[in-house]
Amino acid sequence: MHLKAGFDEVEAAASAFCHTEIGAWFKRKISETTPPELVGISVLYSGQVIAALTLTHLVKAQWPKVPVVWGGAHVTALGEEISRDTRYGSCVDGFVFGYAEKTWVELLDSVANGSSWPQEVIRAGEEFRRAKDYPEIVPCFGTPVACGGRLTLPAQSSRGCAFGRCAFCTYPAIEGTARNLDLYPVREVVMEAERRGAVVSFKDSLITLNRLDELSKLIDGRVQWSGCTKLHPGLNADLLRRLAAAGCRTLEVGLETLTESGQELILKRQTPKLFLEFLDAAAAAGVSIVVNYITGFPRVDHDEEQRWLTKVLAEISTRPNLVAKVEHNRFQFERLSPMGRQPERFGLVVTGSWPWASVLDWKLAA
Ligand code: SF4
Repeated sequence: MHLKAGFDEVEAAASAFCHTEIGAWFKRKISETTPPELVGISVLYSGQVIAALTLTHLVKAQWPKVPVVWGGAHVTALGEEISRDTRYGSCVDGFVFGYAEKTWVELLDSVANGSSWPQEVIRAGEEFRRAKDYPEIVPCFGTPVACGGRLTLPAQSSRGCAFGRCAFCTYPAIEGTARNLDLYPVREVVMEAERRGAVVSFKDSLITLNRLDELSKLIDGRVQWSGCTKLHPGLNADLLRRLAAAGCRTLEVGLETLTESGQELILKRQTPKLFLEFLDAAAAAGVSIVVNYITGFPRVDHDEEQRWLTKVLAEISTRPNLVAKVEHNRFQFERLSPMGRQPERFGLVVTGSWPWASVLDWKLAA
């Protein structure tokens, strides 16, 4: 769901949503809650915008003086638009862009003290500022909700992407400069996972090989874990065996495309040989893999894309010891990606944009 609609249509949808079963559930939960001094809402993708607006309207109806502040990845993706257009603030009092552990605490302090908000919490139409992060903080997971399967605790050992060049990708823009984080919080999350019999899922955009090595030494097989990395000649059977011995069960890689024209377009070159060697290494080490694959790239022959996708699936199926899943997605033209920021450089023209959508419509330049 990309929310290709104007401000008024989205507002109307949120107003209508107030009268649905979910709206009634929101209302009941709000009425059962002690009036807070501040409400914070995370909006992670466009599919949450209408629900977030609905919740904001209902909060305002119940507690008109309580400020509502939005943050999260989708809000960050729209940060520049929000800082240019006051209409985003029709019912939302403040916005926070980027990781905000420190800004959030400062905001809570300012609300408690009655002082002015930190300057990183902006009102719609005000200058864009990234929030202050504090990655050394150890997350608190509370009591897990039973929903089947095994409890998974998220952890992060780096922010941003050390590669950071893929033309379709927004992670570098949303997460900021690539940096490794202190491993102290990871150690704490691993200990918590051990206590609860949980698995750990690393949410890094890309864990470098050095960092994978460091995580292996730190975790040392005490819990099972998974993470996302990038194809690399060093991701061989020796390294994958060490990772497996340290508890790594699944690695995700962004293959994206094996078409030459597609790789040239997205500025991410990975040879078929490198990919096949990775499959062999993962099969030998017993590490499951998730392979992200994208079709529908501009100026790339559709049949060629399909042929390569079929080849990828066939290569996986010829390795009976390999547990692998291909996540196949269609290309999305994201406004914060290098392509979205400089469409002319990639031979594209923007043909449509919507206030609450991070994706743009496009056509090929003449
Ligand atoms: S697709 Fe992956 S490797 Fe490329 S910039 Fe995004 S996170 Fe980094």
